[in-house]
Amino acid sequence: MTVKIGEPYYVGDLVVYFLNENEAVVTDYDCRYELRATDSTCECCTFRFRSRMNPGFICRHIDAVRYMKSKMTG
Ligand SMILES: [Zn+2]
Repeated sequence: MTVKIGEPYYVGDLVVYFLNENEAVVTDYDCRYELRATDSTCECCTFRFRSRMNPGFICRHIDAVRYMKSKMTG
């Protein structure tokens, strides 16, 4: 599978759309919010709150970006 920048991909309930090799826009299937996420940060409230308590926390948006990046690199 080839992952292209600028093409939307479904990962579970999320749509991941890469802006460049590191940064993606992640959209929830059931709501209209678009979030900027990379494989280590996300702008969603869950990540911002939980990562303060737990530095290793990964929200489902980051998880989706990591999943697509693993496909991108092979
Ligand atoms: Zn998130």
